[in-house]
Amino acid sequence: MPELPEVQTIKEYLSEKLVGEQIKNVVIKDERPIKGVSSEEFKETIKSKQVKEIFRRGKLLVFKLEEKLFLAIHLRINGILILSEKEERFARVIFDFGKNRLLNLCDSRVFAQVQLVSDWRKIPIVEKMGPEPLEMEKEEFAALFKGKKAKIKPLLMDQHFLAGIGNIYAQEAVFCAGINPESRANAIEPQRLEKLYQCLISILKKAISVGGSSVDVYLRPDGTKGRYESFLKVYQRNGQACFKCNSQIKRIVSGGRGTCFCPKCQK
Ligand SMILES: [Zn+2]
Repeated sequence: MPELPEVQTIKEYLSEKLVGEQIKNVVIKDERPIKGVSSEEFKETIKSKQVKEIFRRGKLLVFKLEEKLFLAIHLRINGILILSEKEERFARVIFDFGKNRLLNLCDSRVFAQVQLVSDWRKIPIVEKMGPEPLEMEKEEFAALFKGKKAKIKPLLMDQHFLAGIGNIYAQEAVFCAGINPESRANAIEPQRLEKLYQCLISILKKAISVGGSSVDVYLRPDGTKGRYESFLKVYQRNGQACFKCNSQIKRIVSGGRGTCFCPKCQK
């Protein structure tokens, strides 16, 4: 699932290519991703609108089309956005920008969601969303954990707690900070939380700088893979040697999700 670095990569790429451009047409190959309005209404509303701005909140991508009109795209599990000259495999909705530029929303499993709203802040998942990790100071970050009894790794992935972190970067961040993924948040020492903050920020920034992680279907909008995989320390490394201590990486299920960690480095 695309997480903060992947959605940020998409945001940066598409901002450069599409801000100021007009949506000439919309081809709806599959109505399922479109929420809230009929496909006809969707099509008619955004046809000939110009993209004013593209931004990200958590894992949500938002296109500003007018002061009170926003196109919000949530890629969920398997959605990808490809800007190319042709219709791509599994394209469900295609935004035609003219001059052979087609923005394809592709999704093999059709969990991605597209909606038109007058105020993106009022989208329920946005209203309940936690703060942006890259916009926080370490004190604010540490304060989030006060009184939280939840296990640290599922807590980091909870979008109401913190925005944009999923299964890849939560595992990598707790490994980097030497924290066991099953530790109770309120039992973690302040210095460790500070370390976690530094780890999370540096991991997210590095991942953004190399275009995210293509561990599943995710691709950058130009169709190329992100290059963060070679930096992953524990994610999907079950049974392999820890890069720090050479002992074996283990896999557990934490908060319902597969989680790899080093039992020796993460106490
Ligand atoms: Zn280790």
